[in-house]
Amino acid sequence: MKILVINSGSSSLKFQVIDSETERVLAKGLCERIGIDGRFTYKTDTGVSLKEPVPMKDHKQAVHTILDTLSDPDKGVIGEFSEIDVVGHRLVHGGEKFTGSVVISEEVIHAMTECNDLAPLHNPANLVGVEACRELMPDTLMVGVFDTAFNQTMEPKAFLYGLPYKYYERHKIRRYGFHGISHKYVSRRAAQFMGQDPGRVKTIVCHLGNGASICAVKYGQVVDNSMGFTPLEGLVMGTRCGDVDAGALEYLAKKEDLDIKQIVAILNQESGVLGISKNFSSDFRELKDAEIKYHEKATLAREIFAYRVAKYVGSYAAAMNGVDNIVFTAGIGENDSDIREEICSYLEYLGITIDEVKNREQAEAVKISDGTSRVNVLVIKTNEELEIAREAAAVAEGLV
Ligand code: AMP
Repeated sequence: MKILVINSGSSSLKFQVIDSETERVLAKGLCERIGIDGRFTYKTDTGVSLKEPVPMKDHKQAVHTILDTLSDPDKGVIGEFSEIDVVGHRLVHGGEKFTGSVVISEEVIHAMTECNDLAPLHNPANLVGVEACRELMPDTLMVGVFDTAFNQTMEPKAFLYGLPYKYYERHKIRRYGFHGISHKYVSRRAAQFMGQDPGRVKTIVCHLGNGASICAVKYGQVVDNSMGFTPLEGLVMGTRCGDVDAGALEYLAKKEDLDIKQIVAILNQESGVLGISKNFSSDFRELKDAEIKYHEKATLAREIFAYRVAKYVGSYAAAMNGVDNIVFTAGIGENDSDIREEICSYLEYLGITIDEVKNREQAEAVKISDGTSRVNVLVIKTNEELEIAREAAAVAEGLV
């Protein structure tokens, strides 16, 4: 089957065409600055490469551009639109309603719209992409793959806050966890790489990117996830603060005369390693370069990041009563060997020892713990698009 994977944001739309049998990426690209001036990037496995301004006044025009290019006789990888068997949409928040991937129907769209309040930046943008595809490809099966679905196996003891229960009943205030598509892909890939049955291993996935989360996966099911009601909880991130005492926020609001909106903006956009480094950078490469030049706060930002990751790993080893695999993934997890080494230096009590040479290897999947380590430590490149394509194909196959 040929699957078109769509990840729609408010002003951008990422896409890939994946052959589900071979899992080959036939084409991929990005529409950016939708509704502004429009920029289109496109590459195929046959060597076509484009980067050009293309006016796109809305998401429908962006999808039009994608479909026209994909079916272009010179640049394309398909003959006509109808060769796309399924469109797999990345959908951020499915609340408690969606525990797996679904065929997108009117009811699903309605149920998702009800979750808009839970993810106001993401869900409406996702839905705009869905609507654009439905309009232009009315006869093609659309499948929704949720970032929250994999985390829906968390038990109440993990997902409830210590707030009055009535607020969960009234407003569904609870921890949902995010990055589920990546955590699912990476935890399974780790087991496959190690020759293990995913249903018999305890894995901690450290998805360390600009947004970062840690997930405890026991016997294939999520036990806990460091992100909460929103993707703000948990680790210190690029610009997000992660865990913080709510009491400090009231104090800050009073001292700086800020309202709740301003406070939330600070927590999301001005905090994390950016804020700690006194606005030096949210980018780990830049922080590392600055560290070499003795930028004190850049060093501190990286230290705090690594320390918080190690604390979560320790707590998730406790939550699962043990751990077999610890996996690093996403931009920082895949590329920053120094951060990995620093995190692992806190984990010697788990019997973890790292092979320094392996830790510097670049591969799709590599085991960086040495032969004596009691826990496997791995680096695995995440592949959310492939996971979405697999889910979309599985849903489609279930229908035939
Ligand atoms: P992501 O959100 O997964 O794209 O990850 C973005 C983060 O990964 C940024 O903080 C980047 O600085 C970081 N990153 C990407 N490549 C490297 C690298 N080679 N070394 C260190 N950090 C990196």
